[in-house]
Amino acid sequence: MKYYSTRDTAVSLSAAQAVKQGLSRDGGLLTPMEFTKLSEGDLNAMLPMTYQQRAAAIMGLYLTDYSAKELLAFVEKAYGPARFDTSAVAPVRTLDETTHCLELWHGPTSAFKDLALQMLPQLLSAALKKTGETRTACILAATSGDTGKAAMEGFADVEQTKILVFYPKDGVSAVQEAQMLTQRGENVSVCSVVGNFDDTQSGVKRIFSDGALRDELDKRGYFLSSANSINWGRILPQVVYYISAYCDLVRDGKLDLGEKVNFCVPTGNFGDILAGYYARKMGLPIGRLICASNKNDVLTEFLTTGTYDRNRTFYNTMSPSMDILISSNLERLLFDLAGQNGEKVKDYMDQLAMSGSYRVRDEILEQIRDLFWAGSCGEEATAAAIAHYYKDCGYLIDTHTAVAADVMAQYRAATGDAAPTVFVSTASPFKFCDSVLKAIGETPKGEGIDLIDQLQYATGRPAPWRLAALREKERRFDLSQKKEEMPEVVRAFLK
Ligand SMILES: *Cc1c(COP(=O)(O)O)cnc(C)c1O
Repeated sequence: MKYYSTRDTAVSLSAAQAVKQGLSRDGGLLTPMEFTKLSEGDLNAMLPMTYQQRAAAIMGLYLTDYSAKELLAFVEKAYGPARFDTSAVAPVRTLDETTHCLELWHGPTSAFKDLALQMLPQLLSAALKKTGETRTACILAATSGDTGKAAMEGFADVEQTKILVFYPKDGVSAVQEAQMLTQRGENVSVCSVVGNFDDTQSGVKRIFSDGALRDELDKRGYFLSSANSINWGRILPQVVYYISAYCDLVRDGKLDLGEKVNFCVPTGNFGDILAGYYARKMGLPIGRLICASNKNDVLTEFLTTGTYDRNRTFYNTMSPSMDILISSNLERLLFDLAGQNGEKVKDYMDQLAMSGSYRVRDEILEQIRDLFWAGSCGEEATAAAIAHYYKDCGYLIDTHTAVAADVMAQYRAATGDAAPTVFVSTASPFKFCDSVLKAIGETPKGEGIDLIDQLQYATGRPAPWRLAALREKERRFDLSQKKEEMPEVVRAFLK
């Protein structure tokens, strides 16, 4: 399987090259040239398989320069009992006859990013060998919370890699900060930056474009790389859980093979829902993909009107991982719907870079409306959804999942569609204790990781053990720097 760029279809790379490079040189996203079709027979054959076996089979279709043996070893490690707290890995919980919830937070950092970031480091490490790379890859990341920790956990002690994460000093939750500062691994480091997420992210971008620094690091045997969600090695592992969830529902007699199911996905950078789109393109019987946004509703507007406009107010919400104005992975959807026309995509992206907006052709909008439904959910409705699921179903969900739950209800009310629907749960409620406690009518007492205990007592639900154990863990890092000092932090880390 070869990969081309969403901005230039003359590009042709192997899977290992695509994983190593991350982004195409022309700024486009690397995307497989074909999508393999799964027949009902193929799905049927996957019913008795474990999550790991399904993952190796599906990823093998696209990672044709990795051997089946290699992939099996990677998935056993990524999704094994040392990392995930359930053998189902991504279990589906049934709430009523037509409503199911796909829980993607059973991994080591309690957020759905683990599903991809437990896999990517292994794919990258192997890609370095396959492409004859002798230098060590240093992953640099700016994070507003979930990505940084999941990337550190995934890359910890992975051969020929190092990882350095920057986060805004006052811009992550107390639980998220404690998770990063206690990270194990000889090849990891983390530094807080005085300022907000934008300062941190622009600091990282500047480091990536600093030619002198690049040459200096090259002489020391390092190159900089990113673990961003535009890397194909992050999207592909996400395709797996859509297919696996479908297989589980059929296996457990909750769905007939071939029957359509909707997925409702809490969306930020459009990586998760794009993987659902690819699963559908491969032939998985998905009806509608429901795109759920919080108060930052740039995607709701785009998917309903065809106009993308980032010139709008940015809101900090209680679902911070979806606070985003530019959804990078949308580019892959546009490329596909525009008939793999790289020129057209480049044109849209140039307009976005220049004026902050673009409008797609009517034919594209029509296809979007067939495939997707989009809605947004404000802060009050997010809290109300948490309260509703807790009180009426005895089910505790986090703030991001609550956005999906609310938008799923909006979809059903607006369309009358009674088809089975799976809403995707992307984080454990214990990562966002403060908002969840308030939503269920409790007054948070104290702050930070102390609230984990309060939420456990108030609900009688156990926190994921790694979160509950944070208090006892030694804080290994206490580096904090001004934005201007970030390149020095990189130099010192890669001595
Ligand atoms: C990253 C994240 C999202 C958004 O996923 P995208 O792939 O960026 O759309 C949603 N929920 C949580 C908890 C996340 O960490």
